Amino acid sequence: MESMIQEILLTEEQIKTRIKEMAEVLNREYADKDPIVVGVLKGVVVFYADMVREFNFPCQMDFMWISSYAGTNSTGNMVVKKDVSADITGRHVLILEDIFDTGRSLDFTYKHLMSKNPASVKICTLLDKPERRDPDITLQADYTGYVIPNKFVVGYGLDFNEHYRNLPYVGVLKPEAYEK
Ligand code: 5GP
Ligand code: MG
Repeated sequence: MESMIQEILLTEEQIKTRIKEMAEVLNREYADKDPIVVGVLKGVVVFYADMVREFNFPCQMDFMWISSYAGTNSTGNMVVKKDVSADITGRHVLILEDIFDTGRSLDFTYKHLMSKNPASVKICTLLDKPERRDPDITLQADYTGYVIPNKFVVGYGLDFNEHYRNLPYVGVLKPEAYEK
């Protein structure tokens, strides 16, 4: 698996340090809000597990799974495959995401959760690729780990064809990895 990595963009240590920095801010923000922390599956699982363990405030864990019904990509029609299980009405919601790319999935997730009348919805993403953003999407992340260049990354939860999610760092694949 590691032999297919061309370049490591973010090491385990860098990620760990940044997570602690972000958690310090969130620990102040959510100290007395008892938020529902919503992870968007599946890419977020590794970040989610590391992040919530740095939180020192009471919170609830919940997950959503969305997918875009295939077809000709671009328009990105999304459906909820698994909704949050908690009632988020009147509650503070913190969305955790692995990557903010075109922004279509976060935009969809944000609107979906907002429609349930929560007290607030904020977004914390580990990675942001602003160069790829859909120009129609004005949504912004409230907390961002790293802004990265326009490269397809894997590891630390992120996949290529469902593989590489278990790499402990964020890297870029060698071209030959795409050939099989
Ligand atoms: P969006 O384009 O809607 O912002 O992101 C949709 C999803 O595409 C992300 O949640 C993530 O699963 C996937 N994605 C976007 N950029 C990358 C990337 O560089 N690497 C991987 N592995 N997945 C990505
Ligand atoms: Mg994905």
